[in-house]
Amino acid sequence: MSAATYLEDLTVERKDELKESLEEIRARSTSTPTLVAVSKYKPASDILACHQQGQLDFGENYVQELEDKAKILPADIRWHFIGTLQSNKAKTLASIPNLYSIQTLGSIKAANALNKALSSDRSTALRVLLQVNTSGEGSKSGLPPLSSSEDVEASELAQLGLHIVSECPRLRLEGLMTIGSLELSLHASEAEKNANFESLKKTRDILHEYLETVVPEGDRAGWGEEGSGRLLLSMGMSSDFETALKAGGDIVRVGTSIFGARAQKKAT
Ligand SMILES: *Cc1c(COP(=O)(O)O)cnc(C)c1O
Repeated sequence: MSAATYLEDLTVERKDELKESLEEIRARSTSTPTLVAVSKYKPASDILACHQQGQLDFGENYVQELEDKAKILPADIRWHFIGTLQSNKAKTLASIPNLYSIQTLGSIKAANALNKALSSDRSTALRVLLQVNTSGEGSKSGLPPLSSSEDVEASELAQLGLHIVSECPRLRLEGLMTIGSLELSLHASEAEKNANFESLKKTRDILHEYLETVVPEGDRAGWGEEGSGRLLLSMGMSSDFETALKAGGDIVRVGTSIFGARAQKKAT
């Protein structure tokens, strides 16, 4: 089935609705971040409608859903995987040719599995971001944030970052990602939301300084955003992306405000 088939599901109303919400989110974004449109549970026709408005970055949480959508949707889409990463799914993810980034890396085991599974004929390294649990909530995955450069060397985060830069040539350490606190994002003041974002920023600065110290000069082009070498921050969702951008976010992940509410995940 071609992607165009899915356009038949698309009503004029839905198309206009998506066009308007995309325009609104772009207008509310004060800097020029990468806007990842989070399309989990949403039909391929919705993604295609956004693609026709020039939207290229889409985020998905489930490997199977991403694989299915990637097969039928345009090849110039940049897919960002933002769901829980299991090492045994590395192969499937790595086989998606237009997978652009994985934002939820959290272990050396998963990094090795990905590095091994990625084909040597991919033209660029796969961008990875380390997930940081800035809120400290037990329900969230991610590595603990860093608060001082003193014990950076012993931290899991620094060890994973260094491992990727020095041992995983098919991965590129592009930055850090946080979900923040869901509890907070719905009810909290600007200051409380900011605490998560500031924590991610501080963690980034400490990690960057550490890598500069331990990685030989000649290898330094191997991490951060291509060109600038900056480690990027992926933070901010529908309810708090403006706060995240003010705090210095580079990548925002917006679902509900573009596509509308999602069906609840079925209990399995
Ligand atoms: C679902 C999801 C989003 C999008 O959340 P919205 O509140 O719908 O904007 C962003 N990031 C991650 C990791 C998600 O799982």
